[in-house]
Amino acid sequence: MKVVVDPELCIACGACISLASEVYKWDDEGKAKAITEVVSPENEGVALEGLEGCPTEAIKQV
Ligand code: SF4
Repeated sequence: MKVVVDPELCIACGACISLASEVYKWDDEGKAKAITEVVSPENEGVALEGLEGCPTEAIKQV
């Protein structure tokens, strides 16, 4: 699976990074981004937790 963060929707609350630091990190603009293009199978669960925890629905599974 892949996850992408829409920087236009990200309000930099940090929830996704708190929930899934294996999957999300800050980019140079201070917005969240996926660490790797493809989420490794063992991190898929936390990737979805981060997605579901985003208050602005900025994270999409693609
Ligand atoms: S949870 Fe959503 S709004 Fe908050 S930092 Fe992550 S992507 Fe941005």
